Amino acid sequence: MNNRLKSVISAAAIAVGLCFAPVQAADLPHVVILATGGTIAGTGATSTTTVGYTAAKLGVDKMIESVPELQKVAEVRGEQVAQIASESMTNEVWLKLAKRINQLLAQKDVDGIVVTHGTDTIEETAYFLDLVVKSKKPVVVVGSMRPSTAISADGPINLYNAVILAGSKEAVGKGVLVALNDQINAAREVTKSNTSTADTFRTPELGFLGYMQDNKAHFYRMSTRKNTADTEFDVSKLSSLPRVDIVYGYANMDRVAMDADIGAGAQGIVQAGVGDGSVAAQMMPAFRDARQKGVIVVRSSRVGNGIVARNGEANDDKEDFVVSDTLNAQKARILLMLALTKTHDTQAIQRMFYTY
Ligand code: ASP
Repeated sequence: MNNRLKSVISAAAIAVGLCFAPVQAADLPHVVILATGGTIAGTGATSTTTVGYTAAKLGVDKMIESVPELQKVAEVRGEQVAQIASESMTNEVWLKLAKRINQLLAQKDVDGIVVTHGTDTIEETAYFLDLVVKSKKPVVVVGSMRPSTAISADGPINLYNAVILAGSKEAVGKGVLVALNDQINAAREVTKSNTSTADTFRTPELGFLGYMQDNKAHFYRMSTRKNTADTEFDVSKLSSLPRVDIVYGYANMDRVAMDADIGAGAQGIVQAGVGDGSVAAQMMPAFRDARQKGVIVVRSSRVGNGIVARNGEANDDKEDFVVSDTLNAQKARILLMLALTKTHDTQAIQRMFYTY
């Protein structure tokens, strides 16, 4: 064969190779799925059982196996971090999860993380991770509202989209994301808004960040608050978190629950207050006693939207209280726990509430 013919044949071979080359596994993003349980791993007695099922039954490998499409969009592997319904989530599981995520994201061969989780406390875990993950690589927390055995289960499509999102360039640097029902939310802002419907996750008033559509992430906005690698929190050496409790505001409330919390060792109290975090007249002595003992008092609101105004419904400067800004009580509790690992200074803590 002359040289000219040889080069024509090899050019043709390259062209055929290019046209028919399958997507190489090496080209796919490497995503690790860390499973914690929840309804996404739940099973029910029949395909129409959508309440009264058992959460946290399927192991991570079974979950991955049940969505073979994942193999086309990422190099996926799984680890079981916990197997619980998320109403039973604890600070200890959070610390274990955060440390594992930080180890994995420090590796060159990991591009993103998906955390599978129950939906009841998904917003809390996501916000905790948003404050303590030390990487700009994507972390996506996902769950489902219907168990894996249900007709029209939402777990498989939610998991599929979460893996695409976690492996996407678009999600880099956006903070921890909560993605279900084709919608992408910021951890700081998302909340569960309905006990049972598939569209339960909302970022009320401020709106979600974007959509999952046609195997792609589409972003339209970002949270302005600092997160992940830009925070001052470091859990690498922590084995527990300071106790912080929530006191719910309602007509005719009294100080019994709050005094019990402080008696049990709470270093901080978050009031999920009525309205703009208002403090009932009969509660003010209890809050003052708490401050006398060095317990940090944060005023948040049970309303669900809006800023708790500093020096609005209470003289926070005089009473030495902190306001939660727009954080709901369950997220204010998380930020206060982490703040207390650094300081008991109320001005420093107030700055953190305006930063994260
Ligand atoms: N109770 C369940 C859980 O949070 C609900 C769910 O996952 O949707 O684990």
